[in-house]
Amino acid sequence: MSAPTVTRLVYGRGDFDARLDQLLAWETVSDTSVNQVVDGVLADVRRRGDAAVVEYTNRFDRLSTADMAELEMGPERLQQALDGLSDEQRQALETAAQRVRSYHEHQLQQSWQYTEADGTMLGQQVTPMDRVGIYVPGGKASYPSSVLMNAIPAKVAGVSEIIMVVPTPDGEINELVMAAACLAGVDRVFCVGGAQAVAALAYGTETVPRVDKIVGPGNIYVATAKRAVFGLVGIDMIAGPSEILVVCDGQTDPDWVAMDLFSQAEHDEDAQSILICPDAAYLDAVSASIAKLLPTMERREIITKSLNDRAALIEVADLDQAVELVNRIAPEHLELSVEDPDALLPKIRHAGAIFMGRYTAEALGDYCAGPNHVLPTSGTARFSSPLGVYDFQKRSSLIRFSADGASELGQTASVLARGEGLTAHARSAEYRIKPE
Ligand code: NAD
Repeated sequence: MSAPTVTRLVYGRGDFDARLDQLLAWETVSDTSVNQVVDGVLADVRRRGDAAVVEYTNRFDRLSTADMAELEMGPERLQQALDGLSDEQRQALETAAQRVRSYHEHQLQQSWQYTEADGTMLGQQVTPMDRVGIYVPGGKASYPSSVLMNAIPAKVAGVSEIIMVVPTPDGEINELVMAAACLAGVDRVFCVGGAQAVAALAYGTETVPRVDKIVGPGNIYVATAKRAVFGLVGIDMIAGPSEILVVCDGQTDPDWVAMDLFSQAEHDEDAQSILICPDAAYLDAVSASIAKLLPTMERREIITKSLNDRAALIEVADLDQAVELVNRIAPEHLELSVEDPDALLPKIRHAGAIFMGRYTAEALGDYCAGPNHVLPTSGTARFSSPLGVYDFQKRSSLIRFSADGASELGQTASVLARGEGLTAHARSAEYRIKPE
């Protein structure tokens, strides 16, 4: 296999802006044929419930299931998966789960209130969601880490019931995924994927309970279905393909950086890996490492396509220019592979997760560092944040007036209500105003 031809750019030179925009362009949910398939599946599951879910699962995942009950993994089966792990796997899963839990416990929001001089109390009550659905992808690969990253924050938030869906193409059950569900405290697991799984969670069927929010990454069918049911249920985000942006000062071993770029490229042909560095010779060295290491990679075909189509090696004048580009790209994963990452940190405004220093490989963040690996992609870090406990908590405003408070503030409300021509509002406030 020939070495990938990674796009080489120099900041500001030639048609740099246009070429960068072209590389970054990614329409998450744009395919009309996918839309049509997904709309059909959603409508059918809504109408026919379990029967439709079973039919689509048999068709898309090549199964021959008779009914929904066969697609549910009971608690004993989950426990069996956990008990069946090797000691090494069990310990790794437990270490990851414990670190993810500890990190997310810091995110728990508390209720609060305060009282004004006239006895008026105002505040905010935080409550967990009742029931959430987590989508764990399973089409081309299995992701036990995604089980932990989605289920543990929900558990920490205090969600009462967690329903997990995961496709099992050709009936292949991933024991680590089931073990992770057991360890994370998932309540029910259905071996269903794609749009039919999202539909079952959003509308409910005879067997699958309807949830309040659906979280978790997935392919274009899953993303399109989540977008379609948003409003009826909450969703976390529409996730695009994985991305990594490495900013390097040219002092990190080029093999390390090449492998960090591969670590995202191997997820998906559409994944994006970008390296920015002020040293042209270092970019050459990383190119050489890419050519040398690629033949050793199991997923080299996926990596090659991803690097050819969506990767870039960008030369900049200095690290300030690199930071400017970071903020423009707003990457999902940002590695600051430099001597002094603290010096750059205050200038970084948009990034899903920031990995600081040469020893901080993004791959550790995918599994066990502790922070969530479900992150905003495709530039959406400009306005959104990693999945967290706060995604599973809601806030209710609290308001209690004393007689004095109601009388005092009633005047203000009355004036504003009459200005809007809303008489009932005005009179409702005025009833509570004390006579002079
Ligand atoms: P998936 O579970 O998302 O999709 C598999 C399902 O897609 C199948 O069960 C089937 O129902 C449906 N499907 C496939 N072809 C179809 C067709 N022609 N018509 C209708 N439905 C069809 O698994 P996947 O495909 O492996 O995709 C997983 C995605 O999630 C990848 O893009 C991966 O990069 C991403 N991912 C992201 C993260 C993250 O944290 N951001 C983590 C893990 C995975």
